[in-house]
Amino acid sequence: MSSNRPSWAPPERLLLGPGPSAVPARVLQALAAPTLGHLDPAYLAIMDETRRLMRQVFATENELTLAVSGTGSAGMEACLCNLIEPGDEAIVCVNGVFGGRMREVAERYGATVHAVEAEWGRAIDPDAIRRTLQEHPRTKLIGIVHAETSTGVQQPMDEVARLAQEHGALLVVDCVTSLGGVPVPTDEWKADAVYSGTQKCLSCPPGLAPVTFSKRAAEAIRSRRTKVISWYLDVSLLMAYWGSDRVYHHTAPINMTYALREALLMVVEEGLERRFARHQLNHLALRAGLEALGLTYIPDRSLPTLNAVSVPDGIDDAVIRKRLLLEYDIEIGAGLGPFKGRAWRVGLMGHSSSRRSVTTFLAALGTLLRELGWRGGSGDPLDAAGAVYAGHEKSS
Ligand SMILES: *Cc1c(COP(=O)(O)O)cnc(C)c1O
Repeated sequence: MSSNRPSWAPPERLLLGPGPSAVPARVLQALAAPTLGHLDPAYLAIMDETRRLMRQVFATENELTLAVSGTGSAGMEACLCNLIEPGDEAIVCVNGVFGGRMREVAERYGATVHAVEAEWGRAIDPDAIRRTLQEHPRTKLIGIVHAETSTGVQQPMDEVARLAQEHGALLVVDCVTSLGGVPVPTDEWKADAVYSGTQKCLSCPPGLAPVTFSKRAAEAIRSRRTKVISWYLDVSLLMAYWGSDRVYHHTAPINMTYALREALLMVVEEGLERRFARHQLNHLALRAGLEALGLTYIPDRSLPTLNAVSVPDGIDDAVIRKRLLLEYDIEIGAGLGPFKGRAWRVGLMGHSSSRRSVTTFLAALGTLLRELGWRGGSGDPLDAAGAVYAGHEKSS
């Protein structure tokens, strides 16, 4: 398969898992540009441009916008540790792995967490948040996952955002699997802290976490009674470097910033609306193909960027994933938690969201399922996907 590559070179996979997604050559080339010093004016200009691009992609005017050194989870910690002081009350919505991680992180920074839960695969009911706010009127912050990658659920945000406003609670939103693939209207939501990661719909290698804080959040940070528990993620210290003071805090991951800048440029060049439409179209084509194979979607409201489907009866989840990887060089994700062994998670994020990904994956999966004796389904998955693309071409 990949026999003529040097022994140190990794194989080239088609990345259709829950992240990382495929990284375009342009972004990899940016990573390989000469390393600058972290206070070199040429680097500072690149930081400024990266901040401008992040604001565009987050659809925000927020001054306090930067890339945290670390992956999406570092973005989560940065948002929570700067806004939480020990003893604060917080509502965290939990309907999957990442809501659970948010609860854990909020507790570690000293919050008393009131969890609002929903069944895995279901969105959070805003009425449950409203009731919890009534029970706990001192709630300072509401944390919620916009795109729950463990279940494929897209959380409707409007009602949740309205509740946070009405109550005067800070709204923290996890947009790791939505930013760059699904609209993330930060300012329209009046969200106070939004974080993401580079390796999902931005199609950049993992290593940075774009975050943005509202004016209200900046005010809350300024009026803290206690120091932020994490020195590394203290946003006031970070802004002394990212802002006009340019005070050294920690050495920035210089080359990763080049890569993020290039990835964000690609988002802006494509245009946010066109990019969202591309993700939606490829999702609909994949969905038609998977349903033609007889597979069913788990969530009630599926993300276009992450497709969680049930593993058909009698089919061994791990065998299919292993054969996809080793025989076809295609990576997809396994189920987590209650979905372990019962779900596949197919990511169509950023550069991985393409007609080529959809047809290659459907052809491989269809072949493997047939070989393993699966006789469900009503039609040819490639015909079903092709019909979606043909319909789109006719209508546009
Ligand atoms: C991937 C992911 C994270 C964590 O990001 P890492 O880059 O793995 O640290 C957090 N939240 C959601 C919704 C994710 O999909």
